[in-house]
Formats: sequence, C-alpha cells, structure tokens
Amino acid sequence: MVPYRPEPLSDFSNPAVAAEFERALACVSAQLGKRYPMIIGGRRVDAPESITSVNPSRPDQVVGYAARGGLAEAEVAVDAALEAFPAWSRTPAEVRARILFKAAAVMRRRKHELSAWLSHEVGKNWVEADADTAEAIDFLEYYGRQMLKLAAPQELTRIPGEENHLYYRPLGVGVVHSPFNFPLAILTGMTAAAIVTGNTVVVKPSTEAPVIAAKLFEVLEEAGLPPGVANLLYADPVEVGDYLTTHREVRFINFTGSRHVGCQIYEKAAKVQPGQIFLRRVIAEMGGKDAIIVDGTADLDEAAAGIVTSAFGFSGQKCSACSRAIVTADVYDQLLGRVVARTRALKVGPATDRETDVGPVAAARFQQKILEYIEIGKSEGRLVTGGNALPGGYYVEPTIFADVAPTARIAQEEIFGPVLAFIKADDFAHALRIANGTEYGLTGAVYTRSRENLELARQEFMVGNLYFNRKCTGAIVGAQPFGGFNMSGTDSKAGGPDYLLLFTQAQTVVERL
Ligand code: GLU
Repeated sequence: MVPYRPEPLSDFSNPAVAAEFERALACVSAQLGKRYPMIIGGRRVDAPESITSVNPSRPDQVVGYAARGGLAEAEVAVDAALEAFPAWSRTPAEVRARILFKAAAVMRRRKHELSAWLSHEVGKNWVEADADTAEAIDFLEYYGRQMLKLAAPQELTRIPGEENHLYYRPLGVGVVHSPFNFPLAILTGMTAAAIVTGNTVVVKPSTEAPVIAAKLFEVLEEAGLPPGVANLLYADPVEVGDYLTTHREVRFINFTGSRHVGCQIYEKAAKVQPGQIFLRRVIAEMGGKDAIIVDGTADLDEAAAGIVTSAFGFSGQKCSACSRAIVTADVYDQLLGRVVARTRALKVGPATDRETDVGPVAAARFQQKILEYIEIGKSEGRLVTGGNALPGGYYVEPTIFADVAPTARIAQEEIFGPVLAFIKADDFAHALRIANGTEYGLTGAVYTRSRENLELARQEFMVGNLYFNRKCTGAIVGAQPFGGFNMSGTDSKAGGPDYLLLFTQAQTVVERL
C-alpha cells in the first residue's frame, strides 16, 4: 500500500488546468435544476416537499431541488441503517477500507466537476472549492489506512499462558450532521470515519448543500458501498433533529455546526431513553473566535497576508477563520494599514468567476445575520473598510473594525462572515490573555521572530490548532489533526490518528493456553 499523501491542490495558473476547470463549470451549469431524491436502504425516496438549493452568487439560479423528508423518512432511515449493520459490521476491515480507496479514486476522476458543484451550490471560489474536494479525497485515503492499522493486531504486554487480543468493534447506528461550509470535505470525512469502522449511518447534510451530498452518494455507490450502510436524509434539522438525537437505537451523533445546536445535541443525547442499553456518544465540532497575534518583531507583510487569507477566505465562513487580529501597540497602526490595503484589493464577485477572491456568503439569512453584527460593530469599533452588502447575490464586503475592546460582542461572538476585529495589546503577554479570553479555543496563529514569545504561546495559547508564522485556516488531513478546546467542541481531532477510535468500542479477548 502506498503511504498516504495529501492530494495536491490544482495549479490554476497553468492554462490547461484552468481550461479544464472552466469546462467542469460549464458541464455543471448545464445540469442545474434537477431533482434529488433521498437514498434510504439503497432506494431512491422522493417526497412531496422540496429543499431548494440556489446559487448564492445569483440566487435566481436553482442548483437543484432535494426531496424534503420528515419524521417518517427519518424513522425509515434509522431502520435501514439498523438492518444493514449486522452484515456491514462483519465485513472485513480491508474490504471496508477498499471502498474508501475506490471512492477516493472516483472523486479524483471527478475532481473539477465536484468542485464546480461546490462553486455553484455554496459560493466557493475556484481555490476554495478545489481545496474542499482535495480534503474530501484526503479523508477517504487517510481513514482507509487508519482503519487498516486499527484492524491489525495491537501491541499488548505478553503474559505467559494466555493469548491476548484487542479488537476495535463498531458501535452501531449513528447520525451524521454535516455543515454547509465544507459540504463535501467534512461530509465525506464524518461519513467515511463512521462507516469504515463498521458502523452504519443516517446522513443529514446541511439544507444549504443538498446537491453536493447527492454527489457523494453517487461516488459511494460507484465505489460499491452496500445499500443501507449510509442513508441520505434531506430534512429540516428542527423537524428531525430531536428524533434522531434521542432515538434509542442511535449510538452516536457526529455533528459539525454551531455552538448553539451542538450544545443542544450534547444535552439531549445524554438522556438514556427507555429501552436504551448504552451511553450515546457525541462528537461535536462547533465554533471559533480565532485570533492571530502579531508582535513588533514579526514580518508584517507575511502577517498581513496571513490575516487577510484567514479572515476573508470563503468570506470568513470557516470555524477556523481569523476574526480577531491582536496586535502589540508598537506595530498596530502599521499592520492595520497593510491589512486594510490588502483587503481593499480583494475582488468580490461570483464564485464561479476565475478572478474572484471573495464570493458571496452561502445564504440570505447568513448575510442578514452578518449585517446585523456589522451594525453592532459600528458602535463597538471604528469601521475602517467594508461594512456593506453588495447587490446581485448574498455578498458582504470584507469588513474591518479597528480599536475593538477584547470584551466587545464582535470580539466574543462567532459571526461566521467576513468581519475582522483589530484589537490593540500592550505587549505579547497581554495579547495572549486577550486571545484566550473567549469561550472558544479552536485555532490561533502567532506572527513573531521572538523565540521566547513562540515558546510562551506554545505553552499558553489555549487552542486546538496553533500555527506559528502562517495562517490559521487550511489544516491538512493527516498532517494537522483538526479540532478545538472549550466551546469549540469535543476536540475530536478530524484527520488525526485518534479520530476513528471515537466510532469504536475496544474489546479485550483473552484465551487461556
Ligand atoms: N479544517 C478547516 C480549516 O482548517 C476548517 C473546518 C471548519 O471550518 O469547520 O480551515
């Protein structure tokens, strides 16, 4: 088996690659407006109602209609997963892993096409869409290999007269709630980890991104995943969420989304239902209020570039996005000037246009919420650039507020949009205290040339993913396991060597010789 290696990103400066991508965009745009059924127990299930997926760059364009299920379909989906579990859990790990490898190969073949769907459905520009698809491929390749390791004989202390084994067995039926912001990568990663370990799942994708979920299911089917192992349920989470979270046969919930919903799931899932014979597990990846700290020794150009990419990539709709720049007073004005200049140079426009740096946000209601935070920001700081919606789609200008207090709402609450707060610190230690002063702890970065400050940050910066002298987004599967502290979730490191354990129960088997 060749060792895992992250999927290379596409080089769009190569005209041949750019032309391929243009072709994929054209091919996808010729397929817009189709209807997508749910897939339950391998069967296509339609419904009278629909979830309409529109292109956020031009909302009059319908990307697709998904059959909208409800409680009845949720129940059938859990039953289908229960029915598939006995055979799938007994399927050898190599066979399960091979399905992931095959799915990765199919995705690689369809790479630009999948990215083009992402561009249309959630407004990812070329580079962001390409990275999303590459990460989905990485999860398949990485978790497949991790499963082979888990299935191999584990190293245990030998005891004379006994033969000891440790087996990692699946849990049973689980639910996957995936977010809109990495609608292929995170959906694929959460689903792949759950099934490669031998579980069966009900997958409830974000209502903002149903079409790309249908594409993943096409890939899994082509790779040979048996019916019922993964079931695609399109539904309003308010309608089916509690049912799935409290179902007495649902052994685990794998959730990525907001802090608010994550906390509700965590609480409700804990209750043992009548007839339930296990403690339900919750794997939750929630929000962030991520900071980049810059001190007076830093390369300010590098820092400015890192801040702009981290804050405004995919319009700030990443839980890893930088929403606070915490800068020591000696370079505060200088750095602010450079960040503002770079921000003003960003081109906002339709995600499918090649030259677009910042596309729209993914939905009208997100745009509304971000604009409300911008209003709040106007009373909490000095608006230095941006601040407006732009016409034609769900656009929000990249926005920077300066002189924001560490306790301000825009410095504490997750906005999930292109809004950056600049905060002045007296010195590096003060900057670290400000950075740690939220309820989150997902990512953070430090730009400095001081070894002492790097070591201080290494020890004191309380985030799950800490980056030195680079941006705080874009963790690579296998290289940078991803997940956060405190209200950022259960610190379940996606793309890391421990992740699959969350979907297993270990069994010790001892035979006396
Ligand atoms: N893993 C992504 C990153 O490192 C962020 C995932 C998310 O926003 O949920 O940028």
